[in-house]
Amino acid sequence: MTFNLEHTTNQPIILPKNKGVELHVKREDKIHSFVSGNKYRKLKYNLIEAQNKGFKTLLTFGGAYSNHIAAVASAGEMLGFKTIGVIRGEELESKVSDNATLSFAKQSGMRFKFVSREDFKNKISKTFISNLKEEFGAFYLIPEGGTNALAIKGCEEILSGLDKEFDYICTSVGTGGTISGLINCSKPSQQVLGFPALKGDFLQQDISKFVTKTNWKLITDYHFGGYAKINKALISFINDFKTDYQIPLDPIYTGKMMFGIFDLIEKGFFLRGSKILAIHTGGLQGISGMNAVLKKKNLQIIE
Ligand SMILES: *Cc1c(COP(=O)(O)O)cnc(C)c1O
Repeated sequence: MTFNLEHTTNQPIILPKNKGVELHVKREDKIHSFVSGNKYRKLKYNLIEAQNKGFKTLLTFGGAYSNHIAAVASAGEMLGFKTIGVIRGEELESKVSDNATLSFAKQSGMRFKFVSREDFKNKISKTFISNLKEEFGAFYLIPEGGTNALAIKGCEEILSGLDKEFDYICTSVGTGGTISGLINCSKPSQQVLGFPALKGDFLQQDISKFVTKTNWKLITDYHFGGYAKINKALISFINDFKTDYQIPLDPIYTGKMMFGIFDLIEKGFFLRGSKILAIHTGGLQGISGMNAVLKKKNLQIIE
């Protein structure tokens, strides 16, 4: 596979001296345009497992703008798997060509099954899965968002030995798989901070199941109203950040995290003299989908 793992270097962000902290961004977004950041990490051992077990087909679940759907479609095509995406929302079936993520997945060979929101909620029930097997034959199942034990194992490879010097490791949180891997490979003296991109009281518990350390915390003030919810302040922040530091951020995950980190720096949350590492988990394929929505509403778009 052609993945640029040597590009995941830590890029320093030049902050004014009086802020009293150092900030670096780990450019996991550069791994691949579509199998980017944490989605590469989460798929790696799952794809090896699927190959080892002789599966020819991958099946997974996601919404209309899902980075995970794009990643599975793209990685599947590269490795010669057939891919099936079970997509939330029957109404999307006739709108694939208007949706950048689904169009990309389709071009990469993914077959879709569009289901109602109700069916999507029950997607891991035995009946639903056995119906899928009847329809599509044998498949290797990857959960929504890609989080399972093998995904966490992959995310334990995000930090390298050199990252020991950081006091804080920051990441965006969706299902909690990525932060679990980071916690597992952090030093006990490091603080791992998660910035959930959605409202979800279940996250604390979900993460606790995958980790044994306690050096972590969820910062729940920066979800902007919920998953895929955004506002003008966030769009401006993302555009300014790109102008100032030449780093693109996505509106659903990494933009919210970085907005939170800057706000916390401003508020003096981090100990003076500390070094912060923010993981850029990727997700840039989602920008064009969000821009289509913003354009329809006549709002400022992401540059
Ligand atoms: C999926 C995703 C996340 C969330 O990862 P989890 O392991 O589900 O917590 C964060 N950032 C980006 C860019 C993502 O695509």
